Amino acid sequence: MLASNFEKARARMVEEQLLPRSIHDQKTLEAMRKVPRHLFVEDAMKNQAYGDSPLPIGRGQTISQPYIVALMTQALGLKGHERVLEIGTGSGYQAAILSQICEKVYTVERIDTLLVQARKVFDSLHYLNILTKLDDGTNGWPEYGPYDAIVVTAGGPKVPLPLLEQLADPGILIIPVGDRGVQNLQFVTKKDGEITEKTIELVRFVNLIGDHGWKND
Ligand code: SAH
Repeated sequence: MLASNFEKARARMVEEQLLPRSIHDQKTLEAMRKVPRHLFVEDAMKNQAYGDSPLPIGRGQTISQPYIVALMTQALGLKGHERVLEIGTGSGYQAAILSQICEKVYTVERIDTLLVQARKVFDSLHYLNILTKLDDGTNGWPEYGPYDAIVVTAGGPKVPLPLLEQLADPGILIIPVGDRGVQNLQFVTKKDGEITEKTIELVRFVNLIGDHGWKND
């Protein structure tokens, strides 16, 4: 596909998949219009990059559906000054979207090959405000905390305690919580030391594996 065709496909993705599903935050829409999603998938998948679905990225993992990326981003309500922690770098696409609308993104991935590939794409696009770490992200990334926002892009059995501890006050944490097959997308806020939780919608994410997640694949 020609570069201009990817651009058209991306504009269509916003018009047909995001606007009709109540994605209205201007910063989120701008980032979704701008970040070249096709660079975050393998060559064989590039033609499907702007479709309304998740896609395989290797090692049994997936890049989330565009709508879900936009929904999670919008829910964080970012203004531009925030430091955001992401658990589950995967392809790097969600981190790239976040990097356009906050000050700094800290993203943690447990599978080395995925992280190396994501890092390459960040560098090629000169997305300089994304820091990456190979680790079990259920323990967070304590060195740089607390974070104004935390987003977990894999589904676990519960909210990992270290993430709540590394969340700033006020702060917002979004995480799919449920069983291995289906989860509730949970919107957790910390304000004046108090934690409140509400459910956004039903989602299907790959498993969050680690000390405070599922114990194995
Ligand atoms: N945000 C990604 C979605 C990738 S799928 C994107 O935009 O493409 C979720 C990712 O979470 C997978 O790559 C998986 O390896 C990773 N993951 C699962 N458990 C993890 C953990 N404990 N720490 C860090 N990453 C984890």
